[in-house]
Amino acid sequence: MFFDDRYLSDEQRQMRETCRRYVEKVVIPFIAQNRTREWDMDPDARLAPQLLEEADAAGLRALGVPERFGGVEVEPDRAAQTFAIIATELARGDSGLADKLVQNWKISVLISRFAPEHLQEHWFTRYMAEPQFLMAHCLTEPRGASDRWLPYSSPEVNMDTTAVLEADTWVINGRKQFISNGYDASLYVVYANTDDSKPMATGTSSFLVGRDTPGLSVTRCNETIGGRFMNNGEIVFDDVRVPAENLLVRDSALAQASIYFRPGKVLVAAKSLGIGLGAYEETVKFVHERVQGGRVLIQHQAVASRLADMATRLEAVTTLLRHAALAVDEASGEADVLCNMVKVFASNEVVEVCRHAMELHGGYGAMLEVGIEKYMRDALINLHSDGTTDVSNFKIVKAMFPATSGAYAG
Ligand SMILES: Cc1cc2nc3c(=O)[nH]c(=O)nc-3n(C[C@H](O)[C@H](O)[C@H](O)COP(=O)(O)OP(=O)(O)OC[C@H]3O[C@@H](n4cnc5c(N)ncnc54)[C@H](O)[C@@H]3O)c2cc1C
Repeated sequence: MFFDDRYLSDEQRQMRETCRRYVEKVVIPFIAQNRTREWDMDPDARLAPQLLEEADAAGLRALGVPERFGGVEVEPDRAAQTFAIIATELARGDSGLADKLVQNWKISVLISRFAPEHLQEHWFTRYMAEPQFLMAHCLTEPRGASDRWLPYSSPEVNMDTTAVLEADTWVINGRKQFISNGYDASLYVVYANTDDSKPMATGTSSFLVGRDTPGLSVTRCNETIGGRFMNNGEIVFDDVRVPAENLLVRDSALAQASIYFRPGKVLVAAKSLGIGLGAYEETVKFVHERVQGGRVLIQHQAVASRLADMATRLEAVTTLLRHAALAVDEASGEADVLCNMVKVFASNEVVEVCRHAMELHGGYGAMLEVGIEKYMRDALINLHSDGTTDVSNFKIVKAMFPATSGAYAG
């Protein structure tokens, strides 16, 4: 059950074991011994540096970085599946930590695909040398993100952030919000409008912007309900000047980012699954230990029924996740639909799994020092990630019934 070994290649099995060892030895004990630490209002004081250092030592930060820079390249025809397996394992330990690393992997893939060689060398060399080095992907702005996910073909929904070419320098102005790793990233991929006469899909470009570039300021760390070991931030760009070579993709950046968005949805689903598995495993232990009515809880039929429901939902998520990740790896025409389906399905099902976990833990389910409530908070974060449930559902129907579905989905 749940990513059964028989579906894994030797490389995937080995990577999963490495990740599982790290999660069991480092992540789970840290979370259990530091229940209040995610609520420290100093974002720098939350996750101990040791967690990223140990992830680095296990090779987990280097996924997606080309081998010539010391990275770990996964089997290309299984990449989405492998990333999904590792993200599931990490989120089983802590979903905020998984968020941190998943952003790094996705942006590493983007950079290796679009950045010129000398910039790859510059940034990957730094990345490999600094275990605390994080990367962030800046799309969302205060005016909202759903219009960008759909994306509507109308100039008024274009990005407010602009980039203007002056001689050989791009000048970026704007504000990005709700950005994963935004508070503590060293490198940002920034999306900006470069041609206001065109709709967003054909007038948006992407840029590499180092944190220490003059004019870039991180204005806040957002305090979120879950995934709190990832520091979500807001970034302002005030006449930020970057050389022309920092342009990753001109005008069609959103379309080209599908190498990022499709696996991105698979990874959101994988993080949901990891959270659900963590909640399920804790609940299995609890119902075998806690006695009520003279019997351990599992011997009560209502408890057994909830446990069966949790396991069934997780198995269904696993199966759809494997199917969607395979479709990405095979570049199947169904990949887009399946990625949206699994993102929606996994996030909703895992909220239900966590609700059962809380219910089966009784009062302990609500106690900070027990940690079951954390699974629920972490699961809730994934409902809107990479597009809200409703927006993702629009995309599913639009893709299945393009001629009759209407214009709501762009
Ligand atoms: C923890 C966290 C991490 C994030 N990480 C990143 C990141 O790394 N990079 C990044 O760029 N962004 C990031 N985001 C932003 C995230 O992608 C957006 O919050 C999400 O896509 C929803 O956009 P919004 O918040 O602007 O909501 P809105 O777009 O304002 O949506 C609000 C509500 O209106 C509904 N709605 C919107 N449009 C329509 C429509 N046309 N028809 C019907 N209903 C509609 C939505 O479904 C939703 O229910 C993150 C957000 C959070 C909270």
